[in-house]
Amino acid sequence: MSEKEYSRRKFLKNSTLTGLGVGLTTAVTPNLFAGYAKDAGTAAILGGQPVRTKGWPDWPMWDPETDEKRVIEVLRSGIWSRGKVVTEFEEKWAETIGSKRCLATTNGTYALITALRQLNVGAGDEVIVPPYTFIATIDAILMVGAMPVFVDTNPATFQIDADKIEEKITSLTSTILPVHILGLPADMEKIMTIARNNNLAVLEDACQAWLAEINNKKVGTFGDAGCFSFQNSKHLPIGEGGAIVSDNDEFMDRCFSFHNFGRPHGKVVGTVSGEYVILGSKCRSTEYQAAIGLAQLKRLEEQTKQREKNAEYLRAQIKDIPGILPYELSENATRAVFHLFPFRYKKEGFHDLSRSKFIKALRAEGIPCSGGYSPLNNMPYLKDAFQSKNFQKVYPKKMLDFDGYVERNECPQNDQLCKEAVWFGQNMLLGSKSDMNDIAMAIEKVFNNADKIN
Ligand SMILES: *Cc1c(COP(=O)(O)O)cnc(C)c1O
Repeated sequence: MSEKEYSRRKFLKNSTLTGLGVGLTTAVTPNLFAGYAKDAGTAAILGGQPVRTKGWPDWPMWDPETDEKRVIEVLRSGIWSRGKVVTEFEEKWAETIGSKRCLATTNGTYALITALRQLNVGAGDEVIVPPYTFIATIDAILMVGAMPVFVDTNPATFQIDADKIEEKITSLTSTILPVHILGLPADMEKIMTIARNNNLAVLEDACQAWLAEINNKKVGTFGDAGCFSFQNSKHLPIGEGGAIVSDNDEFMDRCFSFHNFGRPHGKVVGTVSGEYVILGSKCRSTEYQAAIGLAQLKRLEEQTKQREKNAEYLRAQIKDIPGILPYELSENATRAVFHLFPFRYKKEGFHDLSRSKFIKALRAEGIPCSGGYSPLNNMPYLKDAFQSKNFQKVYPKKMLDFDGYVERNECPQNDQLCKEAVWFGQNMLLGSKSDMNDIAMAIEKVFNNADKIN
């Protein structure tokens, strides 16, 4: 073993000195690094040798032979707009997810907007949503003229705190929009019970959670509808792409019609053919997108297994390091898919080394990482929406007063989480066990050097 590696025993000895020994005496993982050289080493950020100099798996991945063939077939067919390849992709995705129907869209954002519109969510409605998400979730709510109502995050699971939903329900609430953020499932059992008891629609943002499960049932299939994204960084990467899934035929017919200028489809019928029967827009998938999606779908299950296995292994390796609090899964979660691997960083465990310095030090060791999302419940984009004509004409002044809104939508747990979160990207979880060891060793090395770095 090279000198840059070091003994876990040394780490264990040091860490007990911090007085934070989170379960160290009882829950110590097998001595993985016992055979390695004893030198803890100087942190790379202080001029030492980095734990790792080689890169990480590239993303997206594709197989030139099979994938390029599918795309070239589309090119040569001359049918580039929506056609039978899109239909094939929709059938395969519905089957994969365990849903009756699927509609492919240009992207995940437009899948959300389309689904919200056809759930009849609009002006004057409140939509319950977590602040720990990608901006597109909230944008979709505002784009249909509805009012986002933020419910605080459970910092252990990084998901919407289902126990705090009911207190936010008012006479205006129409829909709960849970997000399975980071690829970890939200607590759908609890959320569905609340929705049923209060007669609310549920739209799942599963844009980061392809194949994640609660009680062996795929997320996206619990609510009235589920939305997915196939953007370049996502686990089924198409460049751009999205989908809506649902078992409700009438709703799906309306979504189809909407995504095709309001033309008749299924139960959405006109009296004269070619009539525009509902207010529509256009967000059709191209045949190219579907061809790439079908090719990518072949790899999704295997890659998901790999990420899951590596995430669980990595979690076990780092969970006893004082100051590192890895994700917990929601109750009844049977599969998480780890679009990101999240943990909370408590600087008290690291001699008060700030999160930004921790991240810099980890990056210097050759481990890419980020601090993740900022709170979305008080940003200027909300004020801009509130100042729009549509909002001004629908909502009473009191509801649009920005300071009052921010106060009503405070999410203190989420604010704290946004200061403490650290993420690793999904592509890193496609590496080997030894790659996971590099991550764990780098965190331990920063831990051992925290005082000096600070
Ligand atoms: C990516 C994403 C979206 C939007 O999907 P696009 O395909 O990029 O439009 C929506 N919600 C979440 C949580 C996402 O991660």
